[in-house]
Amino acid sequence: MTLRLTVKANPWRAHQRALIADVPGAVPVAKGNGYGFGLDTLALEASKLRTDALAVGIAQEVPKVRAGGWMRDIVVLNPWRPGDIAATDLLADPRVITMVSRATDLEAIKRSHPHARVQLEMRTSMQRHGIVADDLPLELGSLQFEGWSIHLPADGSLAEATQLASKALTCRRGAIWVSHLSVADYRVLRTSVGVQTRMRIGTRLWLGDASSLQTTATVLDVHPMRRGERLGYHQGRAPRDGFLIIASGGTAHGIALAAPVPQRTLKQRGVTMAEGFMEATGHTLSPFTIAGKKRSFAEPPHMHSSMLWVSGEEPGVKVGDDIPVTCRMTTTTFDEVILR
Ligand SMILES: *Cc1c(COP(=O)(O)O)cnc(C)c1O
Repeated sequence: MTLRLTVKANPWRAHQRALIADVPGAVPVAKGNGYGFGLDTLALEASKLRTDALAVGIAQEVPKVRAGGWMRDIVVLNPWRPGDIAATDLLADPRVITMVSRATDLEAIKRSHPHARVQLEMRTSMQRHGIVADDLPLELGSLQFEGWSIHLPADGSLAEATQLASKALTCRRGAIWVSHLSVADYRVLRTSVGVQTRMRIGTRLWLGDASSLQTTATVLDVHPMRRGERLGYHQGRAPRDGFLIIASGGTAHGIALAAPVPQRTLKQRGVTMAEGFMEATGHTLSPFTIAGKKRSFAEPPHMHSSMLWVSGEEPGVKVGDDIPVTCRMTTTTFDEVILR
């Protein structure tokens, strides 16, 4: 009963090495579900790359990447906040760099851990975290300053990066760490700022070579059904004669969690909700492919498996077959990750 990610290790690693070679100062990012591979796998892969630092999302991920084999520097991307015990403990760790995004937090850290390694985050047009120009200049005392962080929106602009970097550098010289610039723009920034630059890369590094990744589910059962027969937790009726296909992969794996599609109006959101899972059997498209076609859910996915609907005379699959399933990699937990 397996939802499986199969990785062609050679081309996958070749892509990583090529990208790292193309981006001087690249910093791999391993956070969350490890982009589908798991944090342990990514930590081990990163340790084979030519890089001295790995970025994680939160303090709790630090021991996880270390358990996976990463022993060099670790940057925690989410900014430190008072009361976060795990993040506060890491201020004393000589291999960890803490992100600081507010002047008040900087003051607190100076008092509690005067020699901590810190990076200062600038507010960008994303408006998530970060220090604004009005907060500058800042006094760092005896903190070990590791540079400025600029986290741009998707397809970030070189102009914004350049402007924020120059503002930051007038306050204090230090490395500029950016996210989400194109490689070409990053190279321009690198030559223009006059300090060391670093670029954090997650998606493009681990998921950039889609052809080396295959995601499959296993067919667990195939049941012929007559039109009108009841099925599933919800006892909906079979819409036609056909087959109920039970495949591995359910809510516990993150199957069929909707990706956040940008929707402009409340009305559009209402439509999406109304079109949700409570529709008639055989009408909500699933991410599973059988005989070359994406098939409908027979009912909402269960914890570890999904009930799919195939109309007609032939089910197109048999028990034990592997079938392709489209997965959003940052929300999927696979039962097995196979590197071959
Ligand atoms: C997650 C994250 C990244 C990596 O983002 P990808 O889009 O996966 O490359 C880079 N920088 C910061 C600050 C992040 O939080």
